[in-house]
Amino acid sequence: MAFTADPENTSLVEPKLTREALSGQIDLHCHSTASDGILSPAALVSSAKSAGVTLLALTDHDTVAGIAEARAEAERLELALLPGIELTALWGKRVVHVVGLNVDCAATALKTAIDERDMLRRERAAQIAERLEKRGFTGAYEGAQALAGDGVIGRPHFARWMVDQGHVSDTAKAFKRYLGAGKIGDVAVPWPGLAETLATIRASGGASVLAHPLKYGLTRTRLLALLADFHAAGGDAVEVVCGQQNPVQTREILALVQQVSAPGAGQSAPAGAVRPPLLASLGSDFHQPDQPWRALGCVRLPAGVEPVWNLWQTGAIQAQ
Ligand code: AMP
Ligand code: MN
Ligand code: MN
Ligand code: MN
Repeated sequence: MAFTADPENTSLVEPKLTREALSGQIDLHCHSTASDGILSPAALVSSAKSAGVTLLALTDHDTVAGIAEARAEAERLELALLPGIELTALWGKRVVHVVGLNVDCAATALKTAIDERDMLRRERAAQIAERLEKRGFTGAYEGAQALAGDGVIGRPHFARWMVDQGHVSDTAKAFKRYLGAGKIGDVAVPWPGLAETLATIRASGGASVLAHPLKYGLTRTRLLALLADFHAAGGDAVEVVCGQQNPVQTREILALVQQVSAPGAGQSAPAGAVRPPLLASLGSDFHQPDQPWRALGCVRLPAGVEPVWNLWQTGAIQAQ
């Protein structure tokens, strides 16, 4: 059993991270069929175990529906699992992703945040389908919906449907031509803002991690501003290592994170609010076995950074 709950307060769950869980491969960002992943939650956990992962966080887009199944399999295989989520949020007009780690799946704040995004995703899916239909791609809605099944619907389901139908040769092309930024399927969505999203994660007892900072297409200056806002608004950690990034990029992120966390930085923080430095997280952003970036569990933090799991190991490690 990887968790001990505080019986007085179910919204504060202290994961009991064993030395064994922290000494192997750690992957704190991946997806299952509960959102746009290909593997069921149980199959994902089983693959992680086979890949040597000892601590895993399931972080589906805007849902925790896969956690119960993942947790059951993780207990069976004795793999430590953190309940997580990847929340879609707006920073200004830009969409950013915030991973919530070790969230209480039953927290009211989280349920409200999930319901809101569920509605937005459904509305967006209808709009995407309408636009694709106008381009002659008939049956897009039913097709994407069938691929999403009971899971949260997203653009990758439209992309996969287009591949299945022979409209494009691969999902990357579907994004490049129809679903990516500035294309017809890129529907503007009023996702909740960054500060609200961080508050949701905090109210759910979780730690917030800015996902894949280099995937937002920001200049260095704008990325620095995002990191500063994230830090000032209560963000806990940044993914310094993620699936699609090389070591040079990792060093770039580390430098920016250190700049933002340095004493005296963060002028946008409210007066008197001294924030602890941003911690480091990592994840493969695994979606499917043949993904073109790093495989499940194939990530490692560079030396000298303070990992996000230091937030939870109080007492548990020493007690082993
Ligand atoms: P959504 O949350 O529905 O807007 O979809 C975002 C997801 O689409 C990301 O989490 C990725 O899994 C996927 N995605 C985004 N851009 C691309 C791309 N260029 N090629 C393939 N998949 C992509
Ligand atoms: Mn995805
Ligand atoms: Mn993401
Ligand atoms: Mn992801």
